[in-house]
Amino acid sequence: MRYASSIVDTIGGTPLIRLGRIASGVEATVLAKVEYFNPGESAKDRIAVGLIDAAEREGLLRPGGTIVEPTSGNTGVGLALVAQQRGYRCVFVVPDKVAEDKRAVLRAYGAEVVVTPTDVTPEDPRSYYRVSDRLVDEIPGAYKPNQYENPNGPRSHYESTGPEIWADTEGRITHFVAGIGTGGTISGTGRYLKEASEGGVRIVGVDPVGSIYSGGPVHGYLLEGVGEDFWPGAYDPSVVDELQRVGDAEAFAITRRLAREEGLLVGGSSGMAVAGALRAARSLPAEAVVVVLLPDGGRGYLSKVFDDAWLAEHGFDT
Ligand code: PMP
Repeated sequence: MRYASSIVDTIGGTPLIRLGRIASGVEATVLAKVEYFNPGESAKDRIAVGLIDAAEREGLLRPGGTIVEPTSGNTGVGLALVAQQRGYRCVFVVPDKVAEDKRAVLRAYGAEVVVTPTDVTPEDPRSYYRVSDRLVDEIPGAYKPNQYENPNGPRSHYESTGPEIWADTEGRITHFVAGIGTGGTISGTGRYLKEASEGGVRIVGVDPVGSIYSGGPVHGYLLEGVGEDFWPGAYDPSVVDELQRVGDAEAFAITRRLAREEGLLVGGSSGMAVAGALRAARSLPAEAVVVVLLPDGGRGYLSKVFDDAWLAEHGFDT
C-alpha cells in the first residue's frame, strides 16, 4: 500500500510549472515552483518541520509544550499542522492587516490567535513582536521558534527547496527568483543553488516598495508576508545578486493574471515574485531557465486582491 504515515510526510516535493501565457514574449523558460501544493498550502510547511525538529533535538520543546510565534498566517498553519501531530499547543500572534479568513484557518487547525495592531513600531508593547515575547514569558513550557532569527528556517530550504529545484531542472536553472519576508526562502534555497552550480545560478530577490531590503524609504504597503522594516537574521543578503522592487499595484495585477491565465490561484506575494521574475527574464536568452517561487495559495485573499471593490477602494485597477 502507498500512503503517508501522517500529513507531515506530504510536505515538499512541489511541482515546477511553466508560465506560458504570462511570460509570452520572453525567450527564456520561466518556471514557477508552486508551494501551495504543500498540505498547509504554503512554503512555510517546510520550515515548520525544520524548526520543530530542531527545538526537540535541542531540548527547547518538551512533551506538552506550547509554541508561541508571531506569524502572518502561513508559518502558523505549518506549525499548527506539525504541532498537533506531535501533541503541542499553539498560540499565534498576527498583525491586524492579515485577512480574517487566514486567522480562521489557524483556529480551525486548533491554534489560538492573538491579533495586534499593524501601525505601531516593532518596539511598541502592542507590536506583534513584543506581544509574543510577553506570552512566552507568561506561558509555562512556551517556546518561540522565532522564524525571523532561527537559522533552521533557511536550513529547511537549503535541505529541501534547493535540492528539489536543482534535481527537477537537471541542473539547468540559471536564475532563482523569490520574494523576501524573513529571508529564509531566498537565503537557504539560494545558497544551495549557488553551491550546487558553483556560483552559476544568479539569485534575484524581490522586495515590496516600502520595505527595507531594497533600500527605499520604509512605509506601509498592502502585500502580505514580504518586506520588512528591520533586518532579520534569517536573511543573508550576501546570497542575493540582484534586487527588484515591486509595488502593490503591479503585484496585484499579476496575481490576478496568474489565476485567470495560468490557472494558478496564488497570493499577492506570488504575483510580486512573478513581476520581479519577468523583469529579470525579459533580457535573457532562450537557454536561460528562470525559477520563481510562489509561496502560497490565493484562497486566503479572496476578500482582498481578488475582490474588485477592495482593489478600487485602494485605488488599483481591476
Ligand atoms: N509570501 C508569503 C505569503 C509569506 O507568508 C512569506 C513568509 N513570511 C513569504 C512570501 C516570504 O518568505 P520568507 O519568509 O522565507 O522570506
